[in-house]
Amino acid sequence: MIEPEEALKIILEETKIQPVEEVNLLDSLGYVLAENIISEVDIPPFDNSAMDGYAVCSVDTSGASKDKPCELKVIGDLPAGIVSKIKISSGLAMRIMTGAPIPQGADAVVKKEDTDLSGQNVKIFCEAKEGENVRRAGEDIAKAEKVLLKGTQIKPAQVGLLASLGKAKIYIYKPPTVAILSTGDELIEIDEPLQPGKIRNSNTYTLTAQVLSVGAKPFPLGIASDTFEATERLIKQGLNSDVLITTGGVSMGEYDVVKEVSAKLGAELKFWKVAQKPGMPMAFWKLGEKLIFGLPGNPVATALCFEEYVRPSLLKMMGRKFLFRPEVEAILEHDFKRKAGRAFFARVKVRVEDGKCYVSVTGPQGSGILKSMALAEGIALISKEVSFLEAGSKVKVHLAEEKEDH
Ligand code: AMP
Ligand code: MG
Repeated sequence: MIEPEEALKIILEETKIQPVEEVNLLDSLGYVLAENIISEVDIPPFDNSAMDGYAVCSVDTSGASKDKPCELKVIGDLPAGIVSKIKISSGLAMRIMTGAPIPQGADAVVKKEDTDLSGQNVKIFCEAKEGENVRRAGEDIAKAEKVLLKGTQIKPAQVGLLASLGKAKIYIYKPPTVAILSTGDELIEIDEPLQPGKIRNSNTYTLTAQVLSVGAKPFPLGIASDTFEATERLIKQGLNSDVLITTGGVSMGEYDVVKEVSAKLGAELKFWKVAQKPGMPMAFWKLGEKLIFGLPGNPVATALCFEEYVRPSLLKMMGRKFLFRPEVEAILEHDFKRKAGRAFFARVKVRVEDGKCYVSVTGPQGSGILKSMALAEGIALISKEVSFLEAGSKVKVHLAEEKEDH
């Protein structure tokens, strides 16, 4: 039996970053850039107007004011997207719209609110400094600039930036394929009517959803009955994926055959049993480059082991820098009692008040009580030696990504 920190360390040491893959820009959302992005162009590509107004020679406006406007002759109209063929010189102006290229000869834009057009002439009521209301070519991104570095996670702002550079396709670290296998003679599919002694296979669904939520590619394999042959056949199938997650069948029972099958297939057992509750019988193997997570069948144990161990491993495979949920110190809202001995992951609700975090357990904490997980906004970590915590004690909490109302 090893400690949770040791289990996580072994898993992450054995986890290798994925090969790269070229994808369409919009398919890259959430993934990690596997190349440095260098701009081939200036952005904006040309000097353009930041305002609707008049392109002018700034010297013409020197001394202009509300009482003493200068008057310029308007020689054309410049909508966005049109390049002026006409040059401007002293005494002339062109009407210009936001985003339109600055005409040659002009060096400033006076915004419309500071002007008055009558007939061919425009009155300018203020001085324009050189460069005023002009967006310079390359002021956002200069040609040859390193814009995004390898290792950057792609979020909507990065998608926009990449689009502005004309990057229709980019390289990312390929999301791993993850096979999911539930084991157990007691399991039936969720659309079958319940029968005596049977329960619905919920773990496949929990795990598939968890895999999807990290951006990896799930391949649910259904249910293996508790025989060596059925388990072996489906585990072999699961080994077509980068990662295999099994649930159930790793405890001490007569019918817990996942360990035997893995051994027969030549997988190297890195550990079995972690000093934690829930999730003690968790196992982990390596077979070539493939990772095999043997999660216990109890629904909370499965979900929690994914969250604390499998998720960081998948994120590492995808090139992510931050593998863990945010950890905060929180104040326990009530006394907490339990049998000491193993690290305990308590499912908690989280309340924030005056910048402080408060937590309370989500009700009964048994390994089969999936409701405790569904209500949880965080996981409080109780160390192995602790059997009692008074209300007001401080505990470390892994926060779920978003705080939800229940
Ligand atoms: P095991 O780890 O195989 O001994 O399973 C422990 C318990 O977890 C079983 O008795 C079931 O109650 C439950 N269980 C196992 N697999 C699943 C599953 N796929 N979906 C829901 N509950 C499960
Ligand atoms: Mg079982």
